[in-house]
Amino acid sequence: MILILNQTITHPEAEQLIERLTTMGFKAVKEQQGDRIAIAIVSGIDANTKIDLFKYLSGVERVEDFSQQFKLAGKDFRKGRLVIDVRGKKIGGDELTVMAGPCSIENEEQLHRIAKSVSASGATMLRGGAFKPRTSPYDFQGLGEEALKYMRDAARENDLISITEVMDEHQLEVAAPMADVLQIGARNMQNYSFLKELGKVENPIMLKRGFAATYKEFLMAAEYILNAGNPNVMLCERGIRTYESYTRNLLDICAVPVLHELSHLPVIIDPSHGTGIRSLVSPMAYAAVAAGAEGIMVEVHYDPDNAYSDAQQTISTESFANLMRQMKAIHSVVKQNAVENDG
Ligand code: PEP
Ligand code: MN
Repeated sequence: MILILNQTITHPEAEQLIERLTTMGFKAVKEQQGDRIAIAIVSGIDANTKIDLFKYLSGVERVEDFSQQFKLAGKDFRKGRLVIDVRGKKIGGDELTVMAGPCSIENEEQLHRIAKSVSASGATMLRGGAFKPRTSPYDFQGLGEEALKYMRDAARENDLISITEVMDEHQLEVAAPMADVLQIGARNMQNYSFLKELGKVENPIMLKRGFAATYKEFLMAAEYILNAGNPNVMLCERGIRTYESYTRNLLDICAVPVLHELSHLPVIIDPSHGTGIRSLVSPMAYAAVAAGAEGIMVEVHYDPDNAYSDAQQTISTESFANLMRQMKAIHSVVKQNAVENDG
């Protein structure tokens, strides 16, 4: 955080302010910025530090918040929003990207059947887990490498972009040539050495928000991938942990406008993991589209009750067709509104 001081503040006065900040537990340094002095707080700030703590200190004109710390993910880096091109299809920008498919790839026939159905309903991308991060080691762990072939073929045959999760460097190596987009799950959001590896691949990355991550931590994780050399990152809000236990997570729709304010990266909402309850998936998807999300990720199966994983939050292919129609209608209103506000 950087405190920009009033023009009338002298260096001895700035020193006094630094002393005060030191007693408050911060380490701060001053520097001359043009015609005024700025104080950079170099340590002592954590996720709970509020800007208001500094804003009202005598001599402070304004506080530049953490968004300036996101050198590559932040708004200053790029004019306009990032649009990612995947085999001629666009993620971000005016089109709504809809990622649909099973939680886990169960067999070849299952994936082809779901891919065909979601494509006919208007999905843009096929999701499906080959390597599954399960809470219990006794639960289905995914088919692994074999499933990647099913993914590649089912996506190509149905004119879809594929996305699948990777959890470590070995999986990254085998999945990178097979899948279009690579997903980093909530559990790995802050695996910094892995994030650095993702900078080296050509595939765009969808980074999911950790269930206890602040926006700052989320964007800093994206910053790791961008800084390591991969410019194509999208952010996925998938629900956070709160005291509420009725839903699996609390889907933070506020993430859409907040991340749009702070960053140029596309924002995707996952109402399936975000709610954990089938009947809540569509309403929250509508809310996400209305809030301006660039994309949605949903778990879909022709036999949701018998899905190998996340059955309780998986919607049927029929429900998905209906969801698609409603989302398109909402999206066209949102787009029209944006045009009118620009014009
Ligand atoms: C998933 O999308 O399959 C998944 C495991 O999601 P998350 O990392 O958000 O739990
Ligand atoms: Mn799942």
